[in-house]
Amino acid sequence: MKSAETIVIGSGPAGLSAAISCKQKPVLVLEKNTSAGKKLLIAGSGRCNLTHDSDIKDFFDHYGLNARFLKTALLNYSNRQLIDFFKEKGLDIYIDKNGKVFPESDSSANVLSVLLKCCKENEVEVVYKQNVISVKHKNGQFAVRTPTESYLCKNIIVATGGKSYVNTGSTGDGYEIARSFGHTIVTPKPALTPVYSNSLNLVQLAGVTLQNLLICLYRKNKKIAEHKGDVVFTHKGLSGPGILDFSRQFEAGDLLKLNFTGLHSDDFRHYFIAAVEMDGKSTVQSFLKRFDIPKSLIQTVLGKYKIDPTDNLAEITKAERITITNDFCEFEVAVTRMGGFDVAMVTAGGVHLSEVSSRTMESKLVSGLYFAGEVLDIDGDTGGYNLQAAFSTGHLAGKSISNRGLGV
Ligand SMILES: Cc1cc2nc3c(=O)[nH]c(=O)nc-3n(C[C@H](O)[C@H](O)[C@H](O)COP(=O)(O)OP(=O)(O)OC[C@H]3O[C@@H](n4cnc5c(N)ncnc54)[C@H](O)[C@@H]3O)c2cc1C
Repeated sequence: MKSAETIVIGSGPAGLSAAISCKQKPVLVLEKNTSAGKKLLIAGSGRCNLTHDSDIKDFFDHYGLNARFLKTALLNYSNRQLIDFFKEKGLDIYIDKNGKVFPESDSSANVLSVLLKCCKENEVEVVYKQNVISVKHKNGQFAVRTPTESYLCKNIIVATGGKSYVNTGSTGDGYEIARSFGHTIVTPKPALTPVYSNSLNLVQLAGVTLQNLLICLYRKNKKIAEHKGDVVFTHKGLSGPGILDFSRQFEAGDLLKLNFTGLHSDDFRHYFIAAVEMDGKSTVQSFLKRFDIPKSLIQTVLGKYKIDPTDNLAEITKAERITITNDFCEFEVAVTRMGGFDVAMVTAGGVHLSEVSSRTMESKLVSGLYFAGEVLDIDGDTGGYNLQAAFSTGHLAGKSISNRGLGV
């Protein structure tokens, strides 16, 4: 039986951040894989969008309804502190035009090496091939079991991630560990997922990207929400940050209406009529291009109604004008199904936040038990918000354990 003051389960960003900030040593990180941070390595397509460059208070608009829980964690360890941490450790950082923060090398591997080096400097041991199968509380200590080893510790941090991209090791084990201590688990759901639609033949549009598009969400013929963001047409539906970030509100059966013109349909109709009067010899295609709509999209939509894109505006009938207005201002995509855990960038749901202290990340049910990262019922938007949440909650959990040791 091995013993440690603190055991962290999981070597993702939350677990490593927790281990680095924890002064209650020895600290052991138990990782089921043969190496650390497999999901971190694929973050941002391997470029690792670490966090976002904005006022930390703006972050609270990026975690849906559960953002409040993150207040202490984010203020205690903000995006600026995270950036400074990496810079101090020699990792150069850059910010792209959308405010996303990346390592200068565009390599997640460099981010991970900084974290692992820091673990070493802080005498944190990361033990691999340790799949934690049970955690029990006995006589004020936690007994942790893997198939090959048993451990005892005073404090335990569950940082096992969500349950998407299971080949990275995030298989939802933390939910079972939390449940075994009486915690409620908000049903895990894939989040930041693309939308699949059978409603139209999208193959011709695959790859078309539209920036800052207004997307309106309709359920049972009623508009229930809207969102602006970049949208990418795929072979089977829609993706891109605008869809992924909005996806936490979608259900199969919903209808999405995309506005390609940036104008309300009434304003577009008036503009169209004025263009017919003033510039009737202009083609429909060149008229629509004024709205920066890609040619392939114009041709596909007009093709649906057998309207020739090279027709003059003056030749367009009233019925065709109505059709064009409807499709370009409210292009309908029926949501047939949402992407599953195999494609979800994060998991919504997880350990119920009402049972965890937002000031320390400690369980309100069991003293000495902490949670950090995506295992919690937290999911953020694209743009670096999920990694920041993992780093901040991890940091807070580790720091809280340190304070506890000092009797703070
Ligand atoms: C394709 C993709 C791209 C992404 N890109 C970005 C991005 O650019 N920016 C961003 O902010 N977010 C991004 N995310 C989300 C982000 O990577 C996650 O939110 C973040 O990794 C969560 O950190 P975590 O430490 O909580 O969990 P994880 O990173 O999932 O780490 C959990 C660790 O726990 C280990 N573990 C699990 N169960 C056990 C067990 N029983 N015993 C021992 N070990 C266990 C796992 O093997 C894993 O190593 C992306 C996600 C995906 C899938």
